[in-house]
Amino acid sequence: MLTNKQVNEMLGEITNMFQDKMEELSKYDSVIGDGDHGITMARGSKAAWSKVSAMSDENIDEQLKVYGRTMISELGGAIGPLFGSIFTELARASKGAQNFGENELSNGITKAKDKIFKLGGAVVGDKTMVDSITPASVVMADSIAEGEGFHLVLSKGTESAKAGMESTIELKARKGRSKYLQDKSIGHQDAGATSFYYLMKTMNDYAGRCDIK
Ligand code: ADP
Ligand code: MG
Repeated sequence: MLTNKQVNEMLGEITNMFQDKMEELSKYDSVIGDGDHGITMARGSKAAWSKVSAMSDENIDEQLKVYGRTMISELGGAIGPLFGSIFTELARASKGAQNFGENELSNGITKAKDKIFKLGGAVVGDKTMVDSITPASVVMADSIAEGEGFHLVLSKGTESAKAGMESTIELKARKGRSKYLQDKSIGHQDAGATSFYYLMKTMNDYAGRCDIK
């Protein structure tokens, strides 16, 4: 599990990742969307990190809440509340917790998935971020039921998010801008599903590097 300070470092790494992946994420969105997804995520995460990095010694749920809320207010539109909810729901699941462990992670991702369902109305198979967050949430809850610890739960969730992201390649878009392309959307990976996978991968890499169990 992660300490307050490690959650802070991890949010910094998530921000750096979205700057590094800006072109790649926009490229996915340019084939089947309007080509702004990477720029949007880079901008939202940068604004969120500038707020969080200015906080002094805040607890885990405060940091996650400020990160998510800033992303939502900075981005607006659809993707702001959809992606920002991941952080605000992780915050809600971490309320009062001294550490960020497997329960906070899994409960937060499950709550975020429910919120994204409710806000956006997309279901699995619509070729959106729902296709990567849903299997990750299911696999992590199963892993916890098996008594597995933080890093194993997170690594299984990351693998599952990756498979979900790859599953979007063959899907026909039914939500978001890309739905207007219909059959032309087949053969291209979804940008939002990719962002969720990279988020999980960044957290998993961080846990691996810091040797967190
Ligand atoms: P916009 O579509 O406003 O340009 P972005 O390009 O930043 O926003 O984000 C596009 C991504 O948003 C898509 O790749 C998809 O994963 C996600 N998305 C779009 N609509 C929905 C929805 N209703 N539910 C969940 N995710 C969605
Ligand atoms: Mg777009």
